[in-house]
Amino acid sequence: MHELPIVTGLIETLEDEARRRGLKKIMEVDISIGELSDVVDECVRLYFETASEGTVTEGAVLHFTKQPAMLRCEKCGFVFPHAGSFSCPQCGGNGILVRGTGTDCVIERYSAV
Ligand SMILES: [Zn+2]
Repeated sequence: MHELPIVTGLIETLEDEARRRGLKKIMEVDISIGELSDVVDECVRLYFETASEGTVTEGAVLHFTKQPAMLRCEKCGFVFPHAGSFSCPQCGGNGILVRGTGTDCVIERYSAV
């Protein structure tokens, strides 16, 4: 349900881009979804199909990649992907979430004509 405003935002960004750069059609969009965000890629895809109608993004193919949350070891400072474990792979110390990682749903890149 909460994917709709996200999708609307993504499409607005792409429309702005298209206007600024004189693009006629967005062909492909790579979207990065943070593992800690509860955004579901299938919902994004469905909403996108409807919300993109009549815009430069209509018919664009979406690709999704998962963005891991990052942890920083409180002992040695090593930064590593969360991947379900809080143990530092370097020293076994305790990892603390790096704020702002793994929570975004953003466009990584897009191709257009
Ligand atoms: Zn460590």
